Amino acid sequence: MALRLILFGPPGAGKGTQAAAIRAKLGVPHISTGDMLREAIAAGTRVGLKAKALVGAGSLVPDEVVGEIVAERLARADARVGFLLDGFPRTLRQAEILEVVLQARKESLDHVVKLNLADDEAVRRLSGRRTCGKCGASFHVAFSPPKVDGVCDACGSPLAQRDDDREDVIRKRLEVYRVQTAPLAAHYAKRGLLREIDGTGTIEDVQRRALAALGAA
Ligand code: AMP
Repeated sequence: MALRLILFGPPGAGKGTQAAAIRAKLGVPHISTGDMLREAIAAGTRVGLKAKALVGAGSLVPDEVVGEIVAERLARADARVGFLLDGFPRTLRQAEILEVVLQARKESLDHVVKLNLADDEAVRRLSGRRTCGKCGASFHVAFSPPKVDGVCDACGSPLAQRDDDREDVIRKRLEVYRVQTAPLAAHYAKRGLLREIDGTGTIEDVQRRALAALGAA
């Protein structure tokens, strides 16, 4: 049976990390608008050029631009078995865009999982995050350091800090989340779709809670 999920929560809550675990367990494609935008920026596409300065400043890319990327991605064959959206929708307008796309496909959402995390913990996690530019593996300078400083354990490529993982930009992203994205919780709670879980603790702790919230533990 197809499973259509949204994973949402503040920056640093562990959406990308948990999405990888959920994908492995449930076999639905992981669709991250942040990853798609970073790829578009790296490739210098039309969308990438529009998004570059906004992403670097911690602001949102316009709803219609992101909506189009998601609609195109959902049209691919692998999304027929369902999907796990990570980082989309981020505004009420994006939630409407998603509803229109799903209605046209005669599909509906099954669950919206919200990861909760305090701002200070989010700043601690994000400011220490280092990512491999080649394979995407993620490390933390204090909590899960690579074996060799600055080098990816998985593929040996150099690790880098995302431009938007600097403290001033992290604070901006948290503010954008509070104002523009957090209202989605009430939107999905009203529809009976919201499952809130505690995002603190180890990756495994959060994974257990997330899978239990989806009835897949
Ligand atoms: P993320 O990887 O989800 O933390 O996203 C990184 C950045 O990409 C965000 O701070 C935004 O600038 C942009 N972005 C990602 N997803 C969206 C979205 N759904 N709507 C608007 N901007 C987005």
